[in-house]
Amino acid sequence: MPPARIVLWVASVAGLALLARSVLLDPVPMSVALSAFLGYAALCTTGVLVPQLQMFGDVEWRAEPGAKAVALTFDDGPNPKTTRKVLQILGRGGHKATFFVVGKKALAHADVVREIHAAGHEIGVHGHLHDRLYSLKPPKAVAEDIARAQSAVEQACGLRPTLFRPPVGYLSSRTAAGARRAGVRIVAWSARGLDGIGPTDAEQVFSRIEKRLVDGAIVLMHDAAERDDFEPASVEILPRLLGELGDRELRTVTVSELLDGTTRA
Ligand SMILES: [Zn+2]
Repeated sequence: MPPARIVLWVASVAGLALLARSVLLDPVPMSVALSAFLGYAALCTTGVLVPQLQMFGDVEWRAEPGAKAVALTFDDGPNPKTTRKVLQILGRGGHKATFFVVGKKALAHADVVREIHAAGHEIGVHGHLHDRLYSLKPPKAVAEDIARAQSAVEQACGLRPTLFRPPVGYLSSRTAAGARRAGVRIVAWSARGLDGIGPTDAEQVFSRIEKRLVDGAIVLMHDAAERDDFEPASVEILPRLLGELGDRELRTVTVSELLDGTTRA
């Protein structure tokens, strides 16, 4: 079991013990109760913000080194203009990647979804609406949202994705429960450029990723902006990044290939 999940269990049991003591014996001082509450809240918030800790559920975020490969992943598409640019750049060198598509956009641009699939890339889902408050949604709503996104991809290219990356990258206990209910595998990242929210300096995006570009890495990039209002820096740095991978003798594979050595939808 991941250490963070054990810490959460221990903290939960300790909190309940403190509560029981207050009810059955005498109340603990307010300062102790408040510190315990704030500490627990901080612990849970850290678990939500850092999915790699796997506090609330199993998360894939890197592979053991050995395969001399990395998985490039692209979020927030498809977008007819920027996704096609990414496809073109990847296609030049025969590179493979994984696209975590937003269901609503997949419905609007089914032709681009088909192009991603036809080029041999893997497709996962990134929520249907890319709701920023996703981590607060109840598990049933999360499962339904994931299923809608899966259906949008299936409708476009005939394959139902089994990989899921939570919108905004936060993983609450509710999101994890919803993903379990939907039967999808949660994928986070070990390197990211932070280029999805607004126009970012391409040099900074490259350097953030380049530092963590190691064997077994899962790299989070963007093939489209969340609101389709700018071109993410990932598009500009991609040729240079692929060159860097070549220099380091690292291949590009899909997430499923990196994790299991197999290809999925
Ligand atoms: Zn996103």
